Amino acid sequence: ISGLLSTVGESSKPYANSTEFPAPLPNDLSSLPNLFANELRLDPDSINLASTDYGNIFRVFPAAVLHPTSLNNVVSLIQSSYNSSTPFTIAARGQGHSVQGQAMSQGGVVVNMMSLREHAINNSNNDQSRAFIASVFHRPSGKYLHYADVGGEMLWIDVLQDTTKQGFSPVSWTDYLYLSVGGTLSNAGISGQTFRFGPQISNVHELDVITGTGEFLTCSRSKNSELFYAVLGGLGQFGIITRARIALEPAPKRVKWVRMLYNDFSVFTRDQERLISIHGRKQRNALDYVEGFLMMNQQGSPDSWFPSSEHARITSLVTKYGVIYCLEVAKYYDDLSRDSVDMDLENLFRGLGHTPGFRYKKDVSYVEFLNRVRVGELQLRSQGLWDVPHPWLNLFLPKSHISDFNEGVFRNIILKNNITTGLVLFYPMNRNKWDDRMSASILDEEVFYTVAFLQSTGFDDWQHFDQQNNQVLQYCKDAGIRIKQYLPHYRSKEDWAGHFGSKWRTFRERKTQFDPKMILSPGQMIFN
Ligand code: FAD
Repeated sequence: ISGLLSTVGESSKPYANSTEFPAPLPNDLSSLPNLFANELRLDPDSINLASTDYGNIFRVFPAAVLHPTSLNNVVSLIQSSYNSSTPFTIAARGQGHSVQGQAMSQGGVVVNMMSLREHAINNSNNDQSRAFIASVFHRPSGKYLHYADVGGEMLWIDVLQDTTKQGFSPVSWTDYLYLSVGGTLSNAGISGQTFRFGPQISNVHELDVITGTGEFLTCSRSKNSELFYAVLGGLGQFGIITRARIALEPAPKRVKWVRMLYNDFSVFTRDQERLISIHGRKQRNALDYVEGFLMMNQQGSPDSWFPSSEHARITSLVTKYGVIYCLEVAKYYDDLSRDSVDMDLENLFRGLGHTPGFRYKKDVSYVEFLNRVRVGELQLRSQGLWDVPHPWLNLFLPKSHISDFNEGVFRNIILKNNITTGLVLFYPMNRNKWDDRMSASILDEEVFYTVAFLQSTGFDDWQHFDQQNNQVLQYCKDAGIRIKQYLPHYRSKEDWAGHFGSKWRTFRERKTQFDPKMILSPGQMIFN
């Protein structure tokens, strides 16, 4: 991240990257106000909102923000750019929960997808589900398949509420549910369920997409399949997702939620890998969720999930080792499995090597488990600590190099720098749950890990964390660890080519096919 620190508009917050405000309405955009009577906004509030994101580090001003009330608005907007001799850029913005300006458009138009959500809410009565749920008979397997049709603008919390009301649920989630369907499907959508059910993009049957030429197309594995594979994990480059057909299963009722602590990294990861090796979708004894995270001295007392009576004991374990590792797993159950779930878990846990006496269990509702991050969000909001800079770094790591990473990064960079107080996630996934025809770029080892440095900082010290992120990337480069960034952020064509590797050529060809004038998602800085 480079660039001048500047103070913008009403805000006194300094940003790393900032463009001029207000961006002048370019000539090629001047006809837009005639096209949209009420939907196009040029006022400072709308422009300001669309110029920042959850990262709070980049600030890029669009010329206008579209608040669509129908899909036709989006089609018209893209067509007017596509048909212009000087096309302008367009970025769909879900929740703007990117951290490096990915949903921004400098001098172009941001499409506020939340406006479609609000419009749908205002036009439905309270009990009405916005997810359309159906079951179809699948001849080859002789079983019923259940699915939900949901808007690209809907949040995953909406999807959870609408589907569980009718006894169903998607199987693959993100940790946090106030993200838009279109936003996570443009990345991958990962969490502790990914090892077993694949990322969210592996659980989509069909999409409606408005491409960069303004064409409205339905696509699936058998219809317009090139577009389908392009869009999933496609970083918004090929079209705006307006509907997704998501695979459903009957919703479980409750969850056994377990954490166990390890002082030995190799035992921790051995156990994680053992647990994710049972991963059949229908395998009764498989876990439903496997994650893990670091606990370090610098992070202060253990989070409130742990019983307060245990905090002192856990803190002394952390103090003794400097860093310990927490394995977090979950097993869902319902009325039928209520009596056997504890025994199933004990069988699974037999032989695990966590530190004796440091295993904790909770029993919560399914919705409470999936919506767990919301509690932390509301706490942070009440303390004014939610809208702060987030210099995050998310990586995929090859299993073959995790010990080097532990030594070189966790012990020699993170512990020594002593500045990381945010959450550091670390958990494995199975490659065979991903579909390589999709745009998402992953590693070629059968098991790979994700590591997420989820740091919150002050407005004047995020640069230290940014430097630390660069140190981590440099270490991986020097040590020959072939990582991939998740939620990637690169500045040069060469780096993007390296990120996509053997998929780069296809990615470029798909761009030429579906967004030949390079209109969409300029904030990713791949083609713009
Ligand atoms: P935005 O930030 O608004 O957009 C992201 C990109 O997608 C942009 O390029 C945008 O132009 C494009 N886009 C947006 N909507 C559409 C659409 N309808 N069609 C096509 N392109 C579109 N990710 C995980 O995988 N797992 C997690 O557990 C997880 N936890 C998170 C927790 C928090 C607190 C936060 C802030 C983020 C988390 N993320 C996680 C990251 C998140 O998935 C991405 O940042 C995602 O892009 C956010 O969705 P959004 O709706 O805010 O997208």
